[in-house]
Amino acid sequence: MSRVTVMGTGYVGLITGVCLAEIGHSVTCIDIAPEKIEQLRRGISPIFEPGLTDLIEENLRSGNLWFTNKPEEAIPQSEFIFIAVGTPQREDGSADLTYIQQAAKTIGAHLSILNTVIVTKSTVPVGTNGKIEEWIKDSLHATIPFDVVSNPEFLREGSAIQDTFQADRIVIGSENEESAQRVAALYEPMNIPIFNTNRESAELIKYASNAFLATKISFINEIANLSEKLGADISDVAYGMGLDHRIGTAFLKAGLGYGGSCFPKDTNALVQIAGGVDHRFELLESVIKVNQQQPLKLLNKAVQHFGSLQGKETAILGLAFKPNTDDMREAASITLIEHLLAAGAKVRAYDPIAAGHAQKIFGDRIEYSGSIEECLHQADMAFIATEWEEIKLLPLSIYQKQMKHPVIFDGRNCYSLAEAERHQIDYYSIGRKTST
Ligand code: NAD
Repeated sequence: MSRVTVMGTGYVGLITGVCLAEIGHSVTCIDIAPEKIEQLRRGISPIFEPGLTDLIEENLRSGNLWFTNKPEEAIPQSEFIFIAVGTPQREDGSADLTYIQQAAKTIGAHLSILNTVIVTKSTVPVGTNGKIEEWIKDSLHATIPFDVVSNPEFLREGSAIQDTFQADRIVIGSENEESAQRVAALYEPMNIPIFNTNRESAELIKYASNAFLATKISFINEIANLSEKLGADISDVAYGMGLDHRIGTAFLKAGLGYGGSCFPKDTNALVQIAGGVDHRFELLESVIKVNQQQPLKLLNKAVQHFGSLQGKETAILGLAFKPNTDDMREAASITLIEHLLAAGAKVRAYDPIAAGHAQKIFGDRIEYSGSIEECLHQADMAFIATEWEEIKLLPLSIYQKQMKHPVIFDGRNCYSLAEAERHQIDYYSIGRKTST
């Protein structure tokens, strides 16, 4: 059992802290947001993630998990300090390291036992772990040996706990063998393959992995756009491609493009990282451009169908950037809604979890429905933006029953064309024939 502090109780920090507590470590999670800590102490999760509340309650009860906003209560006793604070995107696309620097200074100010290992979970540009080391050194009040290890995170929101316990690999970046071994030992009960490398490679593995997955998504979306023009069906094309295990089926689902808190910012950051060493990453620049245009392709179909969208009652089904999360950061629904509003449409939206976040973005510029039926009622058109289970499995008869005349713009290819034809619905999707 080790004493661990986790800085940041967002998606990554909270999941990391709770999972390390679950395998027996004594974990204190700290955050600068007092309301989050207040909630967490009462066993309430500030984020939606399947299974998380149960694990928080269980580990609070067993005494393995603590929450505080006072770093001095946790850092001085810790053998490991995980940094899991945000690294948002700056205006120029590069990663903003303000929170990382603050966290490093806080660590330096409170470090007191010898040989604490600082473990960087946040996604940070190549070379940042070296800077973290310097920032901590500059804030120390005495000469205290410590080490900084890169340990990037690969979990996905919506299946974060499962992803943590059944990860494909744990990447540990360190030139110091002893520190790397200590971090590996911390994870040992999870029985996950460990890959050791140097810090720079570990930092780059994270960006390269996200950029590669984003590339797969933009690639299949471009093939979908081509399929529409060539009379091919993207579902069959993607399936046929995926049968080749060199390609694989994962991340070959055409749709509205990628969103969320990671892919958009990490692809932009990697373009900036490359630029910093005089390398123009043209492939990734195109991936980003394709992704920005993808939601507009579906919107153009609505413009072509109706001529003008002025005054059209529009139902948006799903707001979160993907199912099973309340996260709306960079969600395709935002692009869709902003363009629909600019075109004069009247928008109301339904999401089982993310409506609260949407309210912060759109305020009263749109309406929020309490159910799918309410959202569709008397609508001129419906956009499917997130394939939540209840949206994906919604019988098409509900659209027929609720809408004036059902016109669906399905950004997630939830229905078969045969079904849409059977229900005589005007059905537009991605990379497939239009059914009218
Ligand atoms: P988040 O914004 O959800 O959470 C960050 C938390 O850190 C916030 O609660 C904030 O209050 C807290 N914080 C900021 N400064 C602090 C400080 N000095 N001390 C203590 N707490 C502090 O972020 P996230 O989504 O968990 O992402 C964290 C990092 O992990 C980012 O670098 C991100 O790119 C990376 N990452 C995220 C995911 C994901 O799916 N969200 C997956 C892999 C990697």
